[in-house]
Amino acid sequence: LPLTYIQYIDNCYGENFMPDEIYLGAVDIGGTKVTASISNRKGFLTRVYQKTRKEGKNTALPEQIIFLLENASNRAGLSLKDIYGLGISSCSPFSFRDNFCYLKSANICGGLAKERGLIPNDWTEIPIDRELKPYFPRLEIENDCISAAIAERQFGAGRGEDNMAYVTWSTGIGAGAFVNGRLLTGKNRNAVHIGHTFISFDEENSPLCGCGDYGHLEAFSAGPAIARDYGLIAADTAVDTKQVFEKYSQGDPGAIKVIERVAKIFAKGLANLTILLDIKVLILGGSIINDWEILEPLVKKEFFKCFPPLTEGVEFRLSGLSKYLGDMAGLCLIMPDEWISLWQKTKPWEKELETIVL
Ligand SMILES: [Zn+2]
Repeated sequence: LPLTYIQYIDNCYGENFMPDEIYLGAVDIGGTKVTASISNRKGFLTRVYQKTRKEGKNTALPEQIIFLLENASNRAGLSLKDIYGLGISSCSPFSFRDNFCYLKSANICGGLAKERGLIPNDWTEIPIDRELKPYFPRLEIENDCISAAIAERQFGAGRGEDNMAYVTWSTGIGAGAFVNGRLLTGKNRNAVHIGHTFISFDEENSPLCGCGDYGHLEAFSAGPAIARDYGLIAADTAVDTKQVFEKYSQGDPGAIKVIERVAKIFAKGLANLTILLDIKVLILGGSIINDWEILEPLVKKEFFKCFPPLTEGVEFRLSGLSKYLGDMAGLCLIMPDEWISLWQKTKPWEKELETIVL
């Protein structure tokens, strides 16, 4: 496997590595919440989460990560200095300067948001790892879809697949992919950001994307689009979207129209991705996929209509790590080989773990 992070782990731990004595932290940064978990080689020990901090200085989020990891460590009878490595799976995009990663998400940085005033800060970036590096001998960060693709390929629905993509369909749309067994990353580790690819050039009739552009896949077919197109003012996207699917099941003509349209557009987005990268397996995750039973026939019908020589035989699979995908995505960035083979056998993510809301 030409996966440099595994080689990195080997170099880092060395031959005298004693697996029983190390603890690893995983953090999943989302636009609405931040989750932190602590693991040893046998599995997860503790897991806590909190609403994403968006007030104060632009170091508020890394400070929150320290707070959450400290809290999770204490609950496991440890302290922060017992955490050897930290893997962060984060919403994005990123920008890299001087070996540090800066988070430039319009869902967290008020200075980047197009609808001003909804996010109570004027940040244009967050120095995500600069503040954290002094605390951890090992620190790795990837965007949430790239790290989810790694986790799915290593532990989930993508085991053994060399040409696969993980696609999230949620408040946003994003993807991470392996081609010929190689992880695609890019100059700022933002590769395969399909949510912000153009699917329409008719600006006047395209909804505004969270990134400020018109014509993007995400603005047409992510969760908020479903609520919006049905005429709901998105107060709580998850609740509103769920409501539209319920209406669909009851035979509501408006809901049927919206869901069918959105499924069709999302399918075209998946086709774009498949055609560009010659993908064999598409692994789907994210909150919208909870209604896959409704969406599956609609998405597949549209998808396989797209230039058959390039789309036929493509397999659709659901995430194999489900609600622990974010934790596994962070953790797999720093896992030593010894843990990987053990976790593949014992599947600790299938065990129920109490999650504390702080
Ligand atoms: Zn966009």
